[in-house]
Amino acid sequence: MTRAPMPLPLPGAPGSEPTPRSTLAWQALRQRWVCMGPRCQERNGLRALWKLPSRIQLQQGWCCSPDCFQAAFERLATQFLRSERPRGPRAHRIPLGLLLLSRGSIEQTQLRRALEARQTEGGRIGEWLVRQGAVSEDTIAAGVGLQWARPIYPLAQSQGWRQCQGWAPRALLETMRMLPLHLAAAQRRLYVGFTQTVEYSALAALAAIYECATEACIVTDSALDAVLEQMRAAPADGAVQEADFEKMSGAVEIAGIVRQYARYAEARQIRMAPAGPFLWVRIRGERVVHLTFRLR
Ligand SMILES: [Zn+2]
Repeated sequence: MTRAPMPLPLPGAPGSEPTPRSTLAWQALRQRWVCMGPRCQERNGLRALWKLPSRIQLQQGWCCSPDCFQAAFERLATQFLRSERPRGPRAHRIPLGLLLLSRGSIEQTQLRRALEARQTEGGRIGEWLVRQGAVSEDTIAAGVGLQWARPIYPLAQSQGWRQCQGWAPRALLETMRMLPLHLAAAQRRLYVGFTQTVEYSALAALAAIYECATEACIVTDSALDAVLEQMRAAPADGAVQEADFEKMSGAVEIAGIVRQYARYAEARQIRMAPAGPFLWVRIRGERVVHLTFRLR
């Protein structure tokens, strides 16, 4: 298994006017060293050197102690819980059924039957068309690819996903029907497969946590199911663990839980990002732990 990408160095602070290099260097030093804890005693100075071994990187900043970490995390989580979920470009997509009909892949009666089934039993139109034998899964994937203007990835013929195993928690993969497929290391671009809906918040979360670009591809449902089954049977590697939490009361409770896991994992770096119905927290230290908190 390939290691997850390491974060890039901090970019220069954005500003409209050019800032003297010495000021930039000082700002970068402060940003790197000043504790994020809102009530930290050492907030306005550089942290005491004796505290170095217990420092934790949170997002792009640092926390000098578990107390400061918990307070800083709580503040960030509160902002995340209040903020809008990232949305993708609001294109007006042709409904999949109509698209397949216009391409002559299905007939009117087949579409009507699938629509009726979806109305009474739920699910997605593509699943019903396959289940009723109207089209193959590949035709659905091609249709979804056209709908979202994304390429098809031949997941059933590839083991490339193993390179990225353990990079995202299974709760995310299973709920959002997605899979990290391949990291193009040179471009630092992560390709992510989706079956019938491209979840932009998941792409944004992966981009934020691994500091890489992300790009969506389309994979078939059965290929994704086969991979998820293999993951359940043989999890990534003992050093990657995950826990899924439901019915959280809010940022205070989440911060308390993350602090406990941070201690367990001997955390050096913690990143979080909203992804669909979750707040996803990745803890990296002696162990890697993914935590998912269901928000709705
Ligand atoms: Zn502090």
